[in-house]
Amino acid sequence: MGAPGVGKTALTRQFMTSEYKGTYTESNTPDLLEPERNVSVLLDGLESTLHFIAEEQHPDFEIEDIPIDAFVIVFAVSDPASYNQAILAVRRLREEVRTNKAVILVGNKTDLARQRRVARHDAARLAKKYHCRYAETSAALNHHVDELLVGILSQIREQISPS
Ligand code: GDP
Repeated sequence: MGAPGVGKTALTRQFMTSEYKGTYTESNTPDLLEPERNVSVLLDGLESTLHFIAEEQHPDFEIEDIPIDAFVIVFAVSDPASYNQAILAVRRLREEVRTNKAVILVGNKTDLARQRRVARHDAARLAKKYHCRYAETSAALNHHVDELLVGILSQIREQISPS
């Protein structure tokens, strides 16, 4: 989820090149026009396939209708409007949909340090308030993107079988 232009496509593309990528081959050459992407991740000796769905490609979908394991809400740290949209999305998930699923808030474009308009501590505070994880990434530099991918899977595994 997230405003247009924040880097959702760029992040998903970087996931495809992750060092954690497993052996799954069916979608190893993703069709770039295909809004739904699969990536297999090998973590702790266990392989899982993550299937990413872009909300904007499914404008009519009702969140309750799809068996979603985690929500990833992306904004650009250089774009306050995208952050405001992310705030609305977090609130919608927690207060309207009332999902207990993992929600991960992502501040992307950290490479644009001089254009940063959203402080890390503000976004981290928002995430904490709504029981979300917060991560900062640069899809352009492939910075902290692997950590995000592994973090998403860890959150899903944690909620399936809490330790
Ligand atoms: P989407 O609409 O959310 O899928 O956004 P895209 O992935 O298409 O990215 C929109 C634009 O932002 C493209 O020109 C990307 O190259 C650029 N972009 C994406 N991620 C980053 C990033 O981390 N840093 C910078 N500087 N540009 C980025």
